[in-house]
Amino acid sequence: MPSTVTVTPWRVFNVEVGALRRLSPSFLRVTFAGPGLERFADNGYDQRIKLALPLPGSRVAELPNGPDWYQRWRELPDDRRSPVRTYTVRKVRQQLREVDVDLVLHGDGGPATRWAGRARRGDRLALVGPDAGYPGRHGGVEFRPPRDGLLLLAGDETAAPAICAILERLPAGARGHALIEVPDPGDVLPVTAPPGVTVSWLARGGGGYGSRLLPAVTALAAELLPAARPALAPVGAAGPDPLMDVDVDREILWEVPPSSAPASLYAWLAGEAGVIRGLRRHLIAERGLGRDAVAFMGYWRLGRADS
Ligand SMILES: Cc1cc2nc3c(=O)[nH]c(=O)nc-3n(C[C@H](O)[C@H](O)[C@H](O)COP(=O)(O)OP(=O)(O)OC[C@H]3O[C@@H](n4cnc5c(N)ncnc54)[C@H](O)[C@@H]3O)c2cc1C
Repeated sequence: MPSTVTVTPWRVFNVEVGALRRLSPSFLRVTFAGPGLERFADNGYDQRIKLALPLPGSRVAELPNGPDWYQRWRELPDDRRSPVRTYTVRKVRQQLREVDVDLVLHGDGGPATRWAGRARRGDRLALVGPDAGYPGRHGGVEFRPPRDGLLLLAGDETAAPAICAILERLPAGARGHALIEVPDPGDVLPVTAPPGVTVSWLARGGGGYGSRLLPAVTALAAELLPAARPALAPVGAAGPDPLMDVDVDREILWEVPPSSAPASLYAWLAGEAGVIRGLRRHLIAERGLGRDAVAFMGYWRLGRADS
C-alpha cells in the first residue's frame, strides 16, 4: 500500500546558527540555517514562531518531531525539556535556507535572552514554524487590516521585528503611522516603509516601559480620531469593564479581530502586556475606536517569565 505523509501547517525545523549580527545595543539578529528551511513558508507580516533554547550548559536544543511535538515535549522531564519562547520571523530566504530572527537582549533573566547573550555560530536549535508544503493557511499571522483606511502600528522593542516586517510587506499606497518604543537611541533600525506611512522610533532612555509610547499614541489618536465619541464609558465611570481591565497577571492579553471589518482606522498593538492594556483602553474607551478595528497582543509581562 502506498504510504501517506501528513503535511501539517506547522513543523519542527532543526537548524543551526549560521550568523550572528549585533544590530544595536538591544537587538541581536540570529540567522538560522539548515536543510529543510527551503520549506519554511515566507508569510511575512507578524508571523510568529516558537524557538526552543538550549538548557544551561548546552549548545543544543531539540524538540520531539512530528505533529504531536507539543504533547511529547510537555511530557519530557524538566532536565531534558528545552525551554520554548515565541518570536517573530524577520526575514526568510528560502533559496539560501535561512531565516532571520531579531532577539531583544534584556539581560540574563530568561533562557532566551541568556542564550542570546552567549550565542555562537554552530549552536543547534529547533524552530517550530509554518510549512510551505501545507496548502492552507498556517496561522500565526495576526495583522489583518481592512483593504482601505489608516493604519496605526504601535509596540515596544519586542514588537519591532513584527512592525518592521509588516512595513516591508505593505502595499505601496498604504497610509498610516508606526510608533516603536525602544530602550536606547542606538536601537533605531533601518526599515523600508511606503511613503504614506510615517515611522517614529521613540527611545525610552531611562524611562519606564510605555513612557514614550503611551503619550505618543494618545497624541496621535487625538489627531486621527478628533471627533470620536466614546464607544464605552471611560474606565471607572460605571464600574469595571471586564474586557477593558484584563488582569494581565492572570490572563493572557490577546484579542485579535477575526476578520478585517471596514474601518477608517485599524490599530495593531503589541508589547509589554500592561502597556498594551493601557493603549487599548485609551483607543477604545476614550477615543471610541471599535473593538473589531484593534488587534492587541501582550508579547511579554513585566516580572513574569513566559511559561
Ligand atoms: C507573538 C510574539 C512575538 C514575539 N516576537 C519577538 C521578537 O521578534 N523578538 C523579541 O525579542 N521578542 C519577541 N517576543 C517576546 C518574547 O517572547 C519575550 O520577551 C520572552 O519572554 C523572552 O523570553 P526570555 O526567556 O528572554 O524571558 P522569560 O523567561 O520569558 O522572562 C524572564 C524575565 O524577563 C522579563 N522579560 C521578558 N522579556 C523581556 C523584555 N523584552 N524586556 C525586559 N524584560 C523582559 C520577564 O518579565 C521576566 O521577568 C514575542 C512574543 C510574542 C508572544
